[in-house]
Amino acid sequence: MNSLKVYNPANDALIAEVPADDAAAVAAKAERARAAQPAWHATPIAQRKACIARFRDALAAQVESLAATLTAEVGKPIRQSRNEINGLQVRLDFFLAQAERSIASETVLAEADITERISHEPLGVIANISAWNYPYFVGSNVFVPALLTGNTVLYKPSEHATLTGLQIARLLHEAGVPADAFIALVGGGEVGAALVEQRIDGLFFTGSHATGARIAAALGQRLVKLQLELGGKDPSYVCDDADVQAAAESLADGAMYNSGQSCCSVERIYVHERVHDAFVEAFLDVVRGLKVGDPTDESTYIGPITRAPQLAVLEAQVADALAKGATLRVGGHRIDRPGHWFEPTVFTETDHTMELMREESFGPIIGICKVSGDEEAVALMNDTRYGLTAGVYSPDEHRAKRLLAQVTAGSVYWNCCDRVSPRLPWSGCGDSGIGLTLSTYGIQTFTRPKAWHLRTV
Ligand code: NAD
Repeated sequence: MNSLKVYNPANDALIAEVPADDAAAVAAKAERARAAQPAWHATPIAQRKACIARFRDALAAQVESLAATLTAEVGKPIRQSRNEINGLQVRLDFFLAQAERSIASETVLAEADITERISHEPLGVIANISAWNYPYFVGSNVFVPALLTGNTVLYKPSEHATLTGLQIARLLHEAGVPADAFIALVGGGEVGAALVEQRIDGLFFTGSHATGARIAAALGQRLVKLQLELGGKDPSYVCDDADVQAAAESLADGAMYNSGQSCCSVERIYVHERVHDAFVEAFLDVVRGLKVGDPTDESTYIGPITRAPQLAVLEAQVADALAKGATLRVGGHRIDRPGHWFEPTVFTETDHTMELMREESFGPIIGICKVSGDEEAVALMNDTRYGLTAGVYSPDEHRAKRLLAQVTAGSVYWNCCDRVSPRLPWSGCGDSGIGLTLSTYGIQTFTRPKAWHLRTV
């Protein structure tokens, strides 16, 4: 029997060993999900919603133990683990409020002899391959609306969030979702690859661009609906009229929260030359005050890096930035303690020859770049293959909106960053992905519209 070992990234301790799937087990699970789909679709939506409402209540009741598990396997500081689980309540409430309305059939023509209607049919069996950095958020963006709209789900949590994935499966089943309507698969990339090979009707992936591109290639000739929510290199611009202290506090949080391991972490900051030095001093003050340490400690803000190989990526970006003339203002090194740790790191005097300003860092590291004005800021914000989010800090609403209108990104922010709303679509441009989740569009995306031409004879 295969097994998967779960380690704590804060100290490298082995915390669990769980049975893992192999290719045959994946195929058997896919058949079960296929067989279960018609009955789940036939279950009245009120009952499907009741299951998700019970799931929501169970999450709220068990938040402490669930947060402890998330912190142990991902290294997320305990307060941020609680924030994620509590924040999920808002998303679940949105899906519960909007699901029925979003997929209600619609009559678009009603004449004496002909009626035209649109219904929303479930896609069928959904494969959900997920990331570890916000396993509750990014998983439930997919499996909750998929289940509500009558699909069955094959859910592969990241191998770095396996225990959380299994907790999610347990809670959904206890809430009344049939065992075969939601099936968790345990394992790493090879289990994900085996899932891609199955007869599925939709593949919804959250993770890195490299894996997303591999999955798109593997699906190749098969006409399966594919959504990819990938990485980013998200920029923000601080205008010369901005409140630099407020912008520094907001952007330090946006860059360093979850130890910089958010898809929409701020990864590049452009600052107008007139306020650059004041902003940098305020930013460094905030970063120096962030507490790094044991993620189970209530006062910790920055924990370990979840995946050990990312340390080498961060070190390479530091070396490259230094070699190309950037100024290291704070941090820049691994922290010497068991587990995987990296100092909060800030560079100034950066430019776009540096990997730090071009490729996703996914860690507590940020480059700040001085710009001469709005035009240069917009040009640099758009100088990327990604396009997930972008922000502008200024009290001038007109100026901010004019700049944000020119930026190619799925989400844009005025005086804020690193923010996701269940009411708004979550999507990326370019190498940040295809398709969307959240909002009513992110419910309908798990259905296909069916056209009804009804002639009375
Ligand atoms: P990853 O690409 O390493 O892994 C994602 C998932 O893919 C895991 O479950 C993994 O087991 C699986 N996988 C790996 N190889 C596979 C293969 N060949 N076939 C099928 N599945 C395979 O990403 P990660 O480290 O888990 O997540 C971090 C990345 O996710 C970052 O780039 C981050 O920006 C991105 N992300 C994006 C969003 C978004 O909404 N756009 C949200 C969260 C994370």
